[in-house]
Amino acid sequence: MQTSPPARTIQRHLLALLEVSGPLTRAELADLAGLPPTTVAGVVKGLLRSRHLDEVVSEPRSHQAGRPPRALVLAGPPRVVAVVGLRDGGLRLTLATAAGEVLTDRSEAVSTRGRDPGSLFAPTAAMLLATLRDAEVSRSRLVAVVLGVAHPQAQIHSAAPLEERVGVPVLVENDANLGALGEAAFGAGRGLDSFVYVMLGHGVGAGLVFGGRLHRGASGFAGELAHVHVREQGDGPLCVCGGRGCLARVIGPSLSEFVGRAYAERLSVAQVLSLAADQEPGVRRVFADLGRTVGRPLADLCTMLDPAAVVVDGSLGAAGPPVMTGIRETIDRHAAPAVADSVQVLTGELGELAEVLGGVALVRQRSLDAS
Ligand SMILES: [Zn+2]
Repeated sequence: MQTSPPARTIQRHLLALLEVSGPLTRAELADLAGLPPTTVAGVVKGLLRSRHLDEVVSEPRSHQAGRPPRALVLAGPPRVVAVVGLRDGGLRLTLATAAGEVLTDRSEAVSTRGRDPGSLFAPTAAMLLATLRDAEVSRSRLVAVVLGVAHPQAQIHSAAPLEERVGVPVLVENDANLGALGEAAFGAGRGLDSFVYVMLGHGVGAGLVFGGRLHRGASGFAGELAHVHVREQGDGPLCVCGGRGCLARVIGPSLSEFVGRAYAERLSVAQVLSLAADQEPGVRRVFADLGRTVGRPLADLCTMLDPAAVVVDGSLGAAGPPVMTGIRETIDRHAAPAVADSVQVLTGELGELAEVLGGVALVRQRSLDAS
């Protein structure tokens, strides 16, 4: 005989689903929870009485006659996630609701180069508290902080000191993985069962999504595209990882440095992108080369994993089209023909927000898993 889960478990699960989905009718909620409508109606009645939920009149659908359906929403102001990016040049902090609405976004110059990321906990906590105050978001609405970093395991052994300062759980995640999660939940990866996300805007990395979930690998390093060898190890340039000929060393640490080599001068990212927007042939050729260089290991990855799509960082602006062309050509040329025919190469839809929304998606997933 099948036993139903205890009422408290159902309550937690329904609240988590509503937080993620926004307003839902009782029927939609029951459908999403996979529970009988009568069970859901009973639990919802209790949650309305205890003021955990409110009812709102949902948008009338024009073809429907009669009373518009009433939708359920969480009572009170929406809960908030803080997503912090640690990277050369400083800290970027964004507050967003669990539904993915960005409330505020600020950057502060803090030198992160060569510093132990643990030493950035104090400035991160101070910046977070100031941002909450300025945005008039009470601390009780903050549910979690997500730190996006280049190599989580290698750099941050414990986020406990930061948790103590801010009083909420701190999740540390690889930045390319966050981009992948963002595109999966809110962008070009929606509805795709499997895809490879390629981060290029600031540093090189990949995130793998399979069965709708992030694949981190046995030791948490899955998708380290930056350290795939694209040159003979013997003669390639030495990399921070100790290897030679890594993609990251061949491309360079940033887009502007990669393009700067073709110009023998240092260009800002904005200058590079405006040259690309002007259809400057030299810049476009450099970006197509970048796409081909990144595309080569991606072609092998596609042959081995057969993903539905490769989703490329949407923050490249005018540099995007030539990079996409380079990647597409190289996959067509080097991946197994059946795989090359089926795999789509898509531009990310979230631009600069991919990692932020990935942080929101990570917190949502954890709250659903825990419910
Ligand atoms: Zn390397």
